[in-house]
Amino acid sequence: MSDSYEFSIDHAKKLDADDPLNHLREHFFIPRDSIYLNGNSLGLLSKEAATTVLRVLDEWKNLGVQGWLNEENPWFFQAENLGKKIAPIIGAKPEEVVATGTTTINLHSLVSTFYQPTEERNKILADELNFPTDIYALQSQVKLKGLDPKKHLKLVKSEDGRTLDEARIKRAITKDVALVILPSVLFRSGQLLDIEGITKNAHNKGVLIGWDCSHSVGVVPHKFDEWNVDFAFWCSYKYLNAGPGASAFLYVNEKHFDKESALTGWFGYVKEKQFEMNLHFEQAKSAGGWQISSPAIIGSATLEGALNVILRAGIENIRHKSMKMTAYLIYLFDNLLAEEPYNFTLGTPRMPNQRGGHIALEHEDAQRIHEKLLEENVIHDFRPPNVIRITPCALYNTFTEIWQTVSKLRKIIDEE
Ligand SMILES: *Cc1c(COP(=O)(O)O)cnc(C)c1O
Repeated sequence: MSDSYEFSIDHAKKLDADDPLNHLREHFFIPRDSIYLNGNSLGLLSKEAATTVLRVLDEWKNLGVQGWLNEENPWFFQAENLGKKIAPIIGAKPEEVVATGTTTINLHSLVSTFYQPTEERNKILADELNFPTDIYALQSQVKLKGLDPKKHLKLVKSEDGRTLDEARIKRAITKDVALVILPSVLFRSGQLLDIEGITKNAHNKGVLIGWDCSHSVGVVPHKFDEWNVDFAFWCSYKYLNAGPGASAFLYVNEKHFDKESALTGWFGYVKEKQFEMNLHFEQAKSAGGWQISSPAIIGSATLEGALNVILRAGIENIRHKSMKMTAYLIYLFDNLLAEEPYNFTLGTPRMPNQRGGHIALEHEDAQRIHEKLLEENVIHDFRPPNVIRITPCALYNTFTEIWQTVSKLRKIIDEE
């Protein structure tokens, strides 16, 4: 970022005044009297998402079972329609993405399909900094194939405990690897991996690769088709703002539509024939073929409104503002938090193209500072042992809030 910043609240206010997305904040419910910087954990409710969920409740109220095939908004096609809606922001064809299940369930479903160990290639490659649920799920997937996680699940090591060296990841994609599973953005440090480059490297070696994009969809633009990703999955309650309990998504590249889902259920059936209730499973030739159960209609109704807000803002504009906000926070960190007696360190890569949407500030006393910051009504989170995660969301946060948060962090230390 070439922008130069000054450290005064007036400058923060000027950045807000010049922000082309500043009008969006009033479309969100901001928890009262607080600075909410936790959208990477649970994004906020927009008025539009509240409207769509209320509409679906009304449909249920007025139509009962006929809601499934109501003319305007048939629940039967909700999962596919939400897939169609999100497709442009992830660079996919509409039939390659579907709203279904939850993140960990989708991981299980996709990995059990794509992990087909052979005599020569039988390992899954993942990394030691991934969100633990992914690792738990991969361990059980290895066991389900009758193999030993200690031998058949390889984890790329981190040298500094924060980030992964991409060259090291590529070197670890060896001849014995059958499948690579990586997070797009590491949940602690916020490092964004080069999805395209690592995917290409895996493919050059004949290895399939799937990405957990829970920490990047909604804040970073993706081009899954162009990058030739085999499959991906992500939740919708972080930067997508669909709320707790909303459906997750899965993407399957169309070149794999002929693969058999390993965890089948009736919603993965060819749509037009699902109600023939035939006992022979005929899988839909789309990402929809990886659905298992009836979709979570009410819990996913928020997604319609939430995605509309993101589509109108434009994912490129969101990324632009998000990078500007994290750059501003790093700038304030450098000038106001790095030195004695504040002694924070930065846990996030400085290169803008290596950052997702949040910043990790590290401190020896992080847990105590975290508690004090919560008392100041700055909603953020703490990841043991020493990370304070701060997420300025392009849709509803302001530069002024970033400034205020840094001032509060200084005050907490000053008052010691
Ligand atoms: C948030 C997150 C999850 C969450 O999994 P759920 O099944 O939705 O609880 C999984 N993986 C990563 C990388 C995440 O960031």
